[in-house]
Amino acid sequence: MREVSVHILRDKIKELVQEVNFYYPRDIDKKIKEAAINETSKIGKETLELLIKNSEIAAREKIPICQDTGMVIVFLTIGQEVHFTDGLLTDAINEGVALGYEEGYLRKSIVEEPVFDRINTKNNTPCIIYTSIVAGTEVELEIGTKGFGSENMSTITMLKPAQGVNGVKEAVIAAIKKAGPNACPPMVVGVGLGGTFDYAAVLAKKATLRSCESSNADPRYAQLENELLVLANELNIGPQGLKGDTSVLKINVEYFPTHIAGMPCAVNISCHVTRHAKVVL
Ligand code: SF4
Repeated sequence: MREVSVHILRDKIKELVQEVNFYYPRDIDKKIKEAAINETSKIGKETLELLIKNSEIAAREKIPICQDTGMVIVFLTIGQEVHFTDGLLTDAINEGVALGYEEGYLRKSIVEEPVFDRINTKNNTPCIIYTSIVAGTEVELEIGTKGFGSENMSTITMLKPAQGVNGVKEAVIAAIKKAGPNACPPMVVGVGLGGTFDYAAVLAKKATLRSCESSNADPRYAQLENELLVLANELNIGPQGLKGDTSVLKINVEYFPTHIAGMPCAVNISCHVTRHAKVVL
């Protein structure tokens, strides 16, 4: 049994929520710089160059890349030989979020209930926490801070199995087309296939956090990622919706076993500020 103090998680989350808001992750930075070189639309190219300049100012001044500093999502993969000490894990994670948003002067965007008074909690908590238990003694911490301009454009479709891969393509491309300029393109798109209604959405969220330099390990799904990317960029939405070749930087697909009668398809839309980080503790 390995003992891990929840204070370690709290402090790491405090650090990471600031880091992802101040600096583009390496994969996003690389993709946007490549796109700026390859973009053939004049206004598209200028827009990408502005995004790069914006990110350089943010990094230099330690200010957020975007005013929407997001809702924090935490995926924790916990080795079952780990015993957490020094308090409740959930409290420590939320404490890390609150400390990070306070220390980094990041906008607090969370309201305590969604429909009636919508009172701001003033510390950007609570965050969303997903845990999974695996063998071993390690703790993998993966975080994202999700902006809602793009989150609001996400969709879920309960496809019939007979709709097959073409049905998946239609659902994903329809979601991207509908998102258009509202999702602050160039977008990163996470697609979750299989599982249940709810779990497909979790898979899609996890897919947005996967590196844009990676592919699905299954070559059929890797090919689907590539084909979807080509189709998405043919939509000519362009950087910030101003037309151009670069509408989507990457489409990541994750899948899970599902019921014989269904083929859930969730599309989680993310933006050019797809903030994500992963560490092993
Ligand atoms: S969708 Fe992304 S780029 Fe647009 S406002 Fe939200 S965080 Fe910022």
